[in-house]
Amino acid sequence: MSPLNPPRRLLFTAGPTQVHPRVYEAMGKPIVGHLDPYFFEVSEDIRRDLRPVFGTANPFVQVISGTGSAGMETSLANFVEPGQKLAVFTAGYFAERFVEMGRRHGANVACSSKPWGETFSEAEASDFLNRERPHAVAFVHAETSTGALQDLGAITRPAHAVGAITIVDCVTSLGAMPINVDANGVDVAFSCIQKGLSCPPGLSPITVSPAAVERLRARKAPCPIWYMDLKLLLDYYEGAHRYHHTAPISTFYALHEGLALVLEEGVEARFARHRAVHEDFLQRIEAAGLEMFISDDARRITTINTIRVPEGVNEVQVRKRLLDRYDIDIAVGFGQLAGKIFRIGLMGPLATPANVDLLSGALLDCLR
Ligand SMILES: *Cc1c(COP(=O)(O)O)cnc(C)c1O
Repeated sequence: MSPLNPPRRLLFTAGPTQVHPRVYEAMGKPIVGHLDPYFFEVSEDIRRDLRPVFGTANPFVQVISGTGSAGMETSLANFVEPGQKLAVFTAGYFAERFVEMGRRHGANVACSSKPWGETFSEAEASDFLNRERPHAVAFVHAETSTGALQDLGAITRPAHAVGAITIVDCVTSLGAMPINVDANGVDVAFSCIQKGLSCPPGLSPITVSPAAVERLRARKAPCPIWYMDLKLLLDYYEGAHRYHHTAPISTFYALHEGLALVLEEGVEARFARHRAVHEDFLQRIEAAGLEMFISDDARRITTINTIRVPEGVNEVQVRKRLLDRYDIDIAVGFGQLAGKIFRIGLMGPLATPANVDLLSGALLDCLR
């Protein structure tokens, strides 16, 4: 077998994104056992440091072993029981994953759907939820497949008005955009670590409001997925430290360092840096005659720029040229948006003015 020799790419993608050198270094540190007191110190630090990034004072903050989808599955498996009504707002690929998973868990799924790229107003959400009266409401904050940002309160307010708990996919926003879980009335928020947090994939941070924790405790039937049972995980991480599964220690080290980088920079400063870099990039591409897919600035994710593919351009060819000529990886549209958009991430260590220069120059060259 040939030795591993991965190419050095610049990951201007929707994820995984560029990993900071300090995170790689952390992953090479010696592992300890998953019941070692040192491991629980690391996991305690992580729980503490995730709070300001989520924007929450929730005591319940955990990480699930698995990627962002594991957080989604954990949320549904623990907070929606078979037969209960789950309302999902969909206008993109990841929201549709909520629907698919909800059905597999036996939920009675009610869907409010719009074309990909749109978002929901408070009046629309309120109408739908008053009609459906669900037990839980699920939606995506930053829809990576389209570049659209959903205003959180527009859905959480009407959801709480009908007594539903709110489950929000924050996979692309955590670490690079404000979420403000508490102020926005989010009961269950989950994410990943390979997008806004600039770590390799493998963990899914999740936070749960005290009200939702009460529902969890009141639940009679056990969570149908043993591996993602939050009660058992609490007992491992916070309670008796009883063995549940072998936590991926090196990935915990990565997240520990990833969060240290966020807090050293300052959460607000990091969000502001991502916004400034997004605006810089926007100016360049608009000056070059390119057009954003999401027309309204307030509904754009700052970390994923979705750009319309110009007439007559093959987006897959452009992506290949960027990879061949510049070692730059970008993402393109899929599903309803296949052939229609580029999806370009500017996150973590790549979110700098120098990289905007490099990226816009390379993109324009490869579009020619
Ligand atoms: C990437 C992503 C997911 C899935 O996360 P994985 O880490 O690929 O499992 C879910 N939701 C959104 C919005 C995403 O961007």
